[in-house]
Amino acid sequence: PSSKLPSVGLTIFSQMTALANQQKAINLSQGFPDFDGPKPLLDAVGRFIAEGKNQYAPMAGLPELCQAVSDKVFRCYGRKLEAESEVTITSGATEAIFAAISATVNAGDEVIVFDPAYDSYEPAVTLNGGTTVHIPLLPPQFAIDFQRLQDAITLRTRMIIFNSPHNPTGSVMSSEDLLQLEQLLEGTNILLLSDEVYEHIIFDNQVHQSFNRSPMLAERSFIVSSFGKTYHVTGWKVGYCVAPEALMKEFRKVHQYLTFSTSTPMQAAIAEYMQSDAEHDQNLPVFYQQKRDLMNERLSSSRFGIMPSPGTYFQLLDYTAISDLSDQEFVLWLLKEAGVATIPLSPFYKDGTQTGMVRLCFAKSSDTLEKAAEQLCRI
Ligand code: PMP
Ligand code: GLN
Repeated sequence: PSSKLPSVGLTIFSQMTALANQQKAINLSQGFPDFDGPKPLLDAVGRFIAEGKNQYAPMAGLPELCQAVSDKVFRCYGRKLEAESEVTITSGATEAIFAAISATVNAGDEVIVFDPAYDSYEPAVTLNGGTTVHIPLLPPQFAIDFQRLQDAITLRTRMIIFNSPHNPTGSVMSSEDLLQLEQLLEGTNILLLSDEVYEHIIFDNQVHQSFNRSPMLAERSFIVSSFGKTYHVTGWKVGYCVAPEALMKEFRKVHQYLTFSTSTPMQAAIAEYMQSDAEHDQNLPVFYQQKRDLMNERLSSSRFGIMPSPGTYFQLLDYTAISDLSDQEFVLWLLKEAGVATIPLSPFYKDGTQTGMVRLCFAKSSDTLEKAAEQLCRI
């Protein structure tokens, strides 16, 4: 049978985690913490299940969670949202991304993405008959080149997908970037999808430039986040989307038939926890910066080049002083020689660009990070 996604295989994250498990290596590949979320949050799920919160949640999400999201967005970014009409709780950010694209991208439309790009954007566009137009982010900063962006815009451009803090490079957008984007979009009706799942994981006293901060951008944006990243519970698969009412109406038409609604006890627990501990988000930068700095300090005597990582829990390492293997070959070699699993960068590029870099995830206990660094310093 013909395939609707002929070039898609098992994701590189699943592949590398399977290899890491098989070879009993330290798994710094797929992005997930090796520690649990806050205990009151975990306990609340069991309590809500015991109390009978086990049937369908409302299609758009539990009202108390939509309200908690709306309060958070106001507290962090000063944007006032209508919890009933402008917030939808989804099965992870992945569902939100798919629903936003499906709700708006038509056959023949172009969607601009920046390479290296997170893997779920392109298949969603393709399945809806659109095509992705790829613009490179150039090392070492992996910043957006607005001239190239402007040059890529055509009459068919329906949407541009942004991701800050950025997976896999860790780069972050600046307030100047937001201003440039505002200017570029003036007079167009191009939509935006802003993937902000790492919104609270940003370092060195920088401020996350959420699209929620700009009324001009927000009025044409689907802004997506993930409780998995913020509360160290990636396996719960709960996220959300915020958008103006007219866009959200279309988004919900897809969400309603994609999943209908999101796990009730998880939503109840997250809502309760968000109301009881607003500090959690604010402590994440320091929490993860310590991990980044520990890892990088321990790697400073290695032969890897340590790239800047101003956000996310990912770090790029340049291995060109060690090997001239392709990145796909290098991660296999590294797994065998150092017992550490990482992610090659080329799968994040449409054309498989070789950068001589691999990505590691530092959302791990200090013990794991120290052990991994020691093994990486040996090669
Ligand atoms: N976007 C980016 C940039 C991510 O890194 C991830 C997590 N891998 C997602 C979206 C998906 O988030 P979720 O696990 O909540 O579906
Ligand atoms: N977002 C995670 C990462 O970048 C992986 C998610 C997944 O496995 N699909 O590693």
